[in-house]
Amino acid sequence: MKFGGTSMAGTERIRRVAQIVRRQQAAGHEVAVVVSAMSGETDRLVNFCREANPLYDPAEYDVVVAAGEQVTSGLLALHIQALGSKARSWLGWQLPVHTDDAHARARIGTINCEALLASMGTGEIAVIPGFQGLSADGRVTTLGRGGSDTSAVAVAAALGADRCDIYTDVDGVYTTDPRIVAKARKLRHVTYEEMLELASVGSKVLQTRSVSLAMKEGVRVQVLSSFIEADSPPADSLPGTMIVSEEELLEIEGPDMESQLITGIAADRNEAKVTLTRIADRPGAVATIFGPLAAANINVDMIIQNVAKDLGETDVTFTVPIADLARTQALLEEHKATIGYNRIIANGKVAKISVVGVGMRSHAGIAATMFKALADRGINIQTISTSEIKVSVLIDEDETELAVRVLHTAYGLDSE
Ligand code: ADP
Ligand code: ASP
Ligand code: MG
Repeated sequence: MKFGGTSMAGTERIRRVAQIVRRQQAAGHEVAVVVSAMSGETDRLVNFCREANPLYDPAEYDVVVAAGEQVTSGLLALHIQALGSKARSWLGWQLPVHTDDAHARARIGTINCEALLASMGTGEIAVIPGFQGLSADGRVTTLGRGGSDTSAVAVAAALGADRCDIYTDVDGVYTTDPRIVAKARKLRHVTYEEMLELASVGSKVLQTRSVSLAMKEGVRVQVLSSFIEADSPPADSLPGTMIVSEEELLEIEGPDMESQLITGIAADRNEAKVTLTRIADRPGAVATIFGPLAAANINVDMIIQNVAKDLGETDVTFTVPIADLARTQALLEEHKATIGYNRIIANGKVAKISVVGVGMRSHAGIAATMFKALADRGINIQTISTSEIKVSVLIDEDETELAVRVLHTAYGLDSE
């Protein structure tokens, strides 16, 4: 069971979580619980690091930001004890959760579960702070923002758990963010591939890495709400959204599964668009642009290169995380002579809107529907990219909500 920040925000909420956990144990399960810091706490700790030194040492940053989860894991153990059950906390370094040494974005290697299993076998509820681990040289690491989801899936995989229930502040995965579109519909099932695409293009209900790990390890994941009454349906009756394989979905929904063309829509305002004008149209030209960015660990997402004009020159446009825009511009300036462009045009006021669905594999016209729906509302498309089950477009940031609502209706996703 994993509980996110809103679910752990203060005494009342944590007591509620303790009750939910005890109820699950009473239903006959051995339970391990992964917790997030209280909502807002990690942001607060990150700010302290920035105030201390804008160019902070990531190893010390990890020591600071991992603290939020230490507090909530101890508090949840106390609340469970207060209700009369046995519980204890297991910090990342105590298990340990082995990670690499990429501070602030560490990846989990292995988790030692021996002691954990022994304690769970005696009826003790194990409480594990998410987000944190231990590097080979004995230092505290963290997994990147939203990383408690990944901790939970990793612990579930290591324990061979029957299920990994991710409790949050919405009761499942919706066709789009229910806090933005009131007509969003809750999905009973989403495939791993779709959830992976949705998470990676901005549906932050699950951290992307948690979904790829669940897919790789075959962990059964359910997203459900912790904001429930004592008499609401038990988690075992699968009241939330199950992440399933395509084969499983075919079994559940029958051959009609692909009649639902689009599963979900996501928006991401965290990208910036960069255009380099008048690049030479010759072999190796784009390599001179993206080589330095890759070396600096900057993730480039959408890329378009225009058809060359008469002069043998072309424009190249791409997107990078907005947090990396300044670094990107500096690198491009630095390499101006080798790349040989005329101008850099940067725009941080863009949003990427993506539609995702496995039905796209077997149906034509998905992208056409998207372009027409946006055109009908006068929304201009700046860049397009596609994958097998996704179409993404870049638009003006001010039109984000309108675009998501229009597409939600155009694909017939609105609830009654
Ligand atoms: P937690 O603190 O529990 O990890 P998060 O804030 O990380 O919670 O994730 C839950 C939030 O994800 C919801 O409050 C919702 O606004 C947002 N969200 C974005 N896209 C979706 C979606 N397609 N379905 C459900 N929730 C979504
Ligand atoms: N507390 C961490 C964060 O806010 C990890 C998490 O909640 O998943 O990013
Ligand atoms: Mg989260």
